[in-house]
Amino acid sequence: MTAKTEAPSNFIREIVKTDLAAGKHTRVMTRFPPEPNGYLHIGHAKSICLNFGIARDFNGVCNLRFDDTNPTKEEVEYVEAIKADVRWLGFDWEDREYYASNYFEQLYDFAVQLIRDGKAYVDSLSADEIRAHRGTLTEAGKNSPFRERSVEENLDLFARMRAGEFEDGTHVLRAKIDMAAPNINLRDPTLYRIRRVSHHRTGDAWCIYPMYDFAHGLSDSIEGVTHSICTLEFENNRPLYDWFLDNLPVASRPRQYEFARLNLSYTVMSKRKLLKLVQEGIVDGWDDPRMPTISGLRRRGFTPEAVRNFCERIGVAKRDSMVDIALLEYSLRDDLNDRAPRFMGVLNPLRVVIENYPEDQHEELEARNHPTDPGFGTRMVPFSRVLYIEQDDFREDPPKKFFRLAPGREVRLRYAYLITCTDVIKNDAGEVVELRCTYDPATRGGNAPDGRKVKSTIHWVAAAHAVDADVRLYDRLFSEADPETAGDGDFKACLNPKSLTRLKGCRIEPALAGVEPGAIVQFERLGYFCADSKDGTPEGPVFNRTVTLRDPWAKIDKQLKAKGIIG
Ligand code: ATP
Ligand code: MG
Repeated sequence: MTAKTEAPSNFIREIVKTDLAAGKHTRVMTRFPPEPNGYLHIGHAKSICLNFGIARDFNGVCNLRFDDTNPTKEEVEYVEAIKADVRWLGFDWEDREYYASNYFEQLYDFAVQLIRDGKAYVDSLSADEIRAHRGTLTEAGKNSPFRERSVEENLDLFARMRAGEFEDGTHVLRAKIDMAAPNINLRDPTLYRIRRVSHHRTGDAWCIYPMYDFAHGLSDSIEGVTHSICTLEFENNRPLYDWFLDNLPVASRPRQYEFARLNLSYTVMSKRKLLKLVQEGIVDGWDDPRMPTISGLRRRGFTPEAVRNFCERIGVAKRDSMVDIALLEYSLRDDLNDRAPRFMGVLNPLRVVIENYPEDQHEELEARNHPTDPGFGTRMVPFSRVLYIEQDDFREDPPKKFFRLAPGREVRLRYAYLITCTDVIKNDAGEVVELRCTYDPATRGGNAPDGRKVKSTIHWVAAAHAVDADVRLYDRLFSEADPETAGDGDFKACLNPKSLTRLKGCRIEPALAGVEPGAIVQFERLGYFCADSKDGTPEGPVFNRTVTLRDPWAKIDKQLKAKGIIG
């Protein structure tokens, strides 16, 4: 499937369309506003596709804005990783790479304006006292004893906060709204706090930093954003978002719209939790192929198209729900099926000697690189007397429905010949270590001239020509569908102990000897695999299994169709 150029509609797109038609805006401007305190994950991809997708489809623009107002948790490494991930997903912010920190001076001026207008004050209660004064959902808050400070005193104190005269936590600047407001966000929210730490961009220029709510909407306004799209948990912050715009001399008036965040089964998505997995060495970094991060998905072998198609399939709704991770895997298979060339590789090799094949002979057999797309062409695969097949493809004592190789039985070797197993060699422990077979020279290419049928076709490689490879098989990182709630609050309690299996001594076709890191192939019958971009060795590549060929959840296709999720 090729990437569509226009995404299906959703309620936010309808709003944009209506606004444009009504002449409310002549040009749409959206933004993707990550906080650089971790790597992006698949949930962010949903937001990126929505924001950049709207800009693309309505001839507007989308800014990349780093919401960098919390210097204790933010790092340049994250900024760079975020940029690389957005680019990889196929989106371009051109020269509009913005930072909330670029606006610190202007935001400070806005704060001073609020003080002058009697709409903000310096509070000297401690954080705990402020919390205690805030009240609850059913109980109004109490005014701070510092709420009625004079404008002059507030201006003086705020200037001295900025000048570094006070310790962290001694004062904050608060908006003076209403301590009895039913919406707790309006109970005199904090605008600035003292944090005497360096910022990754502004260095030591500031020791007071604006709060997210204050900085976010005003940054939108400064940039001229028209539609400020965020996730549902900010719904109750919208009145505050609007309050700042109503009470300050802003040049442009963005509007906030909320949509449901992506939740994915068997996955945690909060950056705080992902950071924990990284810091505690539970995974091999942010780009561990088991992580739901964009960099993890990339290293696993996801394509940008697969991620974008997934984001289109899940749609944009106003109510939270959990998306089955099988849908992500479905989108991946759907994309890789069309783009991954096919090869043969043996994960657990079993030696096969073709006794009637001459010892000093070898031949090259033609193999198709794709089953349905002739554009992929063909390649030559070496065949010789000693081969490897998959251990699983042989049973000495085959059960009823096992049609693959067994003593006395004939099977087809893909692209090669029909072979028959004539003898089984075992080691002292009684394990099968080698099969003796014969081949029928008249069946070159895999078909018998007499029309006799075999029930099974298996993959193989020629022992002397094959290349060694390490392969890593991945399973879900968590064994519970909802790790957030399953482990009694401890999401690590339901980590899947079998999420990673490392295989050594796998044997793959020689055509893959110099495979490019990041290349994605299908090993026939085994799944899609991606040559690892970090861990290849001079002796051979390391392949990550991206996804198996069939989903373990039978009938997923049917279910998706029944739900109307796919056509
Ligand atoms: P987390 O809770 O994982 O730390 P966040 O919301 O704090 O995420 P930000 O960097 O602030 O992370 O997010 C940037 C943008 O991505 C925001 O507009 C946010 O709403 C959006 N976003 C974050 N997580 C998701 C998600 N799971 N689904 C959709 N959008 C998301
Ligand atoms: Mg956030």
